[in-house]
Amino acid sequence: MTAKIIDGKAFAATVRAKVATHVTRLKQDHGVTPGLAVVLVGDDPASQIYVRSKGKMTAEVGMASFEHRLDAETSEADLLALIEKLNADSAVHGILVQLPLPDHLNSDLVINAINPAKDVDGFHISNVGLLGTGQKSMVPCTPLGALMMLRDHLGNLAGLEAVVIGRSNIVGKPMAQLLLNDSCTVTICHSKTNDLQAVVRRADIVIAAVGRPEMVPGDWIKPGATVIDVGINRVPNGEKTKLVGDCDFASCVEVAGAITPVPGGVGPMTIACLLANTVTACCRANGWAEPQGLTA
Ligand code: NAD
Repeated sequence: MTAKIIDGKAFAATVRAKVATHVTRLKQDHGVTPGLAVVLVGDDPASQIYVRSKGKMTAEVGMASFEHRLDAETSEADLLALIEKLNADSAVHGILVQLPLPDHLNSDLVINAINPAKDVDGFHISNVGLLGTGQKSMVPCTPLGALMMLRDHLGNLAGLEAVVIGRSNIVGKPMAQLLLNDSCTVTICHSKTNDLQAVVRRADIVIAAVGRPEMVPGDWIKPGATVIDVGINRVPNGEKTKLVGDCDFASCVEVAGAITPVPGGVGPMTIACLLANTVTACCRANGWAEPQGLTA
């Protein structure tokens, strides 16, 4: 069997087009432009690329983009003061603090200082709790994008066996929660899991979110399973480097029913969901009807 390739790039383009339509409507009907503030502390090269690409796509869908680039030595007090300012700014509907933060800054403290209604990454403890209890929340963008691709490909997920490899607060745990909310039978694996291969082998849905290049080979995959590869790993490629996922694409594609590529799978969906969350936050803040069908 050769798997269907789930085209995250094309899917994300359709989501961004819908976001752009909603943005136009909000401007026309209410004279309001949804605004996203992105805060970057320090000069981590990967984070700089992400922030640049977020800013570009925010502008492309017609939203206001506010970038705050702070020195790596920025104090916690100064960062918290900026967040307080953004919380109070009515032109800012979404706030994203790019992670990881430099070691001297307490990420939990900083994220929990964001107004939960503006927490478009869905990492604030209130949003985590709301998601965990199946209530309306801001849903973390990467797992949300993965869920959208799964629903689009499989339809109803109820009863399917899902295995999530990775238990981070950013990807693994919220992904597992979303799958549970969709009535999957969910197993979360991590670095201490015994016989990972046997657990993965029984999954109808495999989510790989580890950060280890090509660690999941095709012979771990149940034939016909849907594989969502969240990993983004830069590896040497001759004189240059290339991006690969956490799954060995060449062997997994021969066994899976469907698979997301890296690049061009989950990555583009993450940014599209961030933009969609910002439009949703804008509508909620103003008491307007939320856009339907933008996300899962
Ligand atoms: P993380 O380092 O916070 O978590 C990695 C998880 O993998 C941990 O829970 C750990 O227990 C588990 N793990 C480590 N070694 C393992 C092993 N040998 N077997 C099983 N589990 C193991 O990483 P993260 O932030 O969750 O990111 C995971 C990957 O996803 C990274 O490659 C990251 O770059 C990528 N990512 C992609 C997007 C996107 O938009 N596509 C967004 C976020 C993260």
